[in-house]
Amino acid sequence: MAFKLPRLPYSKDALAPHISAETLAFHHGKHHATYIEKLNTLVEQESALTNKTLEDLIVTQEGPVFNNAAQAWNHDFYWHSMSPEGGGEPRGAIAEAIQKSFGSFADFKERFGTIAEEHFGSGWVWMVKESNGRLAVVDTHDADNPLRRDQTPILTCDVWEHAYYIDYRNVRADYVEAWWNVVNWAFANKNFG
Ligand code: FE
Repeated sequence: MAFKLPRLPYSKDALAPHISAETLAFHHGKHHATYIEKLNTLVEQESALTNKTLEDLIVTQEGPVFNNAAQAWNHDFYWHSMSPEGGGEPRGAIAEAIQKSFGSFADFKERFGTIAEEHFGSGWVWMVKESNGRLAVVDTHDADNPLRRDQTPILTCDVWEHAYYIDYRNVRADYVEAWWNVVNWAFANKNFG
């Protein structure tokens, strides 16, 4: 059974002006779609991999299968980490957990922003829940995913250049700053559990 490109959870112009319709058209319609296509080609060639979920492939595979499975999963998680109704201060249980783990929302935001801006090369910045229940900010390289380290992903920001080059050219810091206007706290609360 082939993996399908999941629909964006909003229209392509819904995150503008923070993330443009053109960026979403390329990022979802080309980049995300290509990871799914490549993964399907790889899985077709290896019968032991059929009927595995993306999560199974992420924790058990290496190389191209891992890379494409993780990128397929990471992008869907990233689309849901943003919402046209997002932004502003965190609410609910996640707000309390942020305070407990980072001191304040401002401290968390600064930490997340610094890690996102300083991340070298392609990758992802995540808010994760550690096994002790505390929140942390981690960055992963290329396709890598916190599920491989027993961390629960809560939110992610894609810091591959393809996520921001159309809108912000080389200025990743401006993209990360804009990302706060669409960050989906309802999704974070759902993942925090
Ligand atoms: Fe991406």
